Amino acid sequence: MNEKITDVTAGRGGKTFLLAGRDKTALVDTGMAFCAPALIAGLKARLAGRPLDYILASHSHYDHIGAVPYLRREWPAVKVLGAEHAAYVFTRRRALETIRALGAQAAALFGAGDLPPYDDALLKIDAVVGEGGKLDLGGLSVTILATPGHTRCSLSFLAAGGTLFASESAGYMSGGRVYPSFITSSAAALAAIEKCRRLNPAVIIPPHHGPLGDRARASYWDDCEAAVRAAVDFILRHARQGRGEAEILVAYERDMRDEGSRREQPLAAFRLNAENMIRTVLRENGLSAPPGR
Ligand SMILES: [Zn+2]
Repeated sequence: MNEKITDVTAGRGGKTFLLAGRDKTALVDTGMAFCAPALIAGLKARLAGRPLDYILASHSHYDHIGAVPYLRREWPAVKVLGAEHAAYVFTRRRALETIRALGAQAAALFGAGDLPPYDDALLKIDAVVGEGGKLDLGGLSVTILATPGHTRCSLSFLAAGGTLFASESAGYMSGGRVYPSFITSSAAALAAIEKCRRLNPAVIIPPHHGPLGDRARASYWDDCEAAVRAAVDFILRHARQGRGEAEILVAYERDMRDEGSRREQPLAAFRLNAENMIRTVLRENGLSAPPGR
């Protein structure tokens, strides 16, 4: 990996990388809220007096942007960059409540106790970025790719030199396995996988993971595609056997909730994702028509 890119993850459940250009610095995601104190301490040591200029939000979920309010307190001038839909999500009271609730659950699950209070108004996008956008940090530029499917606001980031921060639309990796994570669209997730595959990045950093080794990298996009297709087939098979959403969820949890998943996600977050994936597949296949999210 490029020496200007450092893993500064400060706790479980969400990865954070620091990009240090000649002129500016940026974080790719922040991890969960409870990681903020350790993240800030680690960043201050690494930045050695330089400010944190940007936070690139891969999407609007609690495990990727949970520490934003605390980072803003430390670096009030930091600009959070994210997709237009992420900017919208952060204006919705229910979304902010979900972020807060899941962040608190994760803190408890990982033994971090109660979250320090924060103001929801600090969770916002300062500047909207989208497909083809570029961020120049000075000797290190980042290209933004729209890769929806996990959420409508999911972005991937390609750092010059060929390091791709893959979006969760492609899936997430834990314990050597890729898990599907298309919440809003399996078709968009497959398109995102194809788009990233064509870039043929030298280094792939999947969400919730460090840079892949050569073997995992060689099969990564195939593994992502297979995971999406297997989940879609699983859901359709159960639906065609006459099972409703709740029954499919039980079966899905029995099949997919393994050690790797437990390490990465509290059960509530796993269920929320699975429920939405099931609804999405049913909707995409005309098997039911709940309102889209
Ligand atoms: Zn997510």
